[in-house]
Amino acid sequence: MKLVFASNNKNKIKEIQSILNGSIQLLSLEDIGCHEEIPETADTIEGNAILKANYVTEKYGYDCFADDTGLEVKALNGEPGVYSARYAGEQKNADDNMNKLLEALKNKENRSAQFKTVIALNLDGKQHLFTGLAKGTITLNKTGNQGFGYDPIFQPENYSETFAELSSEIKNKISHRAKAIEQLIDFLNSTK
Ligand code: IMP
Repeated sequence: MKLVFASNNKNKIKEIQSILNGSIQLLSLEDIGCHEEIPETADTIEGNAILKANYVTEKYGYDCFADDTGLEVKALNGEPGVYSARYAGEQKNADDNMNKLLEALKNKENRSAQFKTVIALNLDGKQHLFTGLAKGTITLNKTGNQGFGYDPIFQPENYSETFAELSSEIKNKISHRAKAIEQLIDFLNSTK
């Protein structure tokens, strides 16, 4: 069975392919000749994952899954959420985004937050959603230089380091994305 992952991240695709049951062949957007930017115009994380998966299934006719992620901060009513990449503007700059978030939390006592990844899977005419959460807190300052995005200011629960201080091996075991992918893989391996 051929299944498209609506992504061009070769590392992610290779990693998922290696854990999948041999009957499933993963294809990237490039593999199916999709070079256009897929719209991400929904106002929820779920909505964007669904938009991306549906775009590929409707336009290219493939079964497909797509992911979308955001950082939800409790004291900010779940912001930046679906707008995490462009929180401080369309330049999508990680430092600007972190500075804006630290400023917004300056006088807040509650610094709880969670990363949320949603994967939408279109398979055999049905849609399935998988959600992975990483709970933690927003630190007072940036620390660490691994990872990307908000990693230097996100401290996962049960750890005293930020995501940017943890090795990629550890982050890839406990992250929101890892948890969503694990559910997807369990599902796929049990159905095919
Ligand atoms: P995407 O949906 O995977 O593109 O993620 C949207 C945005 O959320 C990214 O541009 C980052 O700002 C943020 N983000 C997603 N995953 C992570 C992560 O693992 N660490 C830090 N920031 C992340």
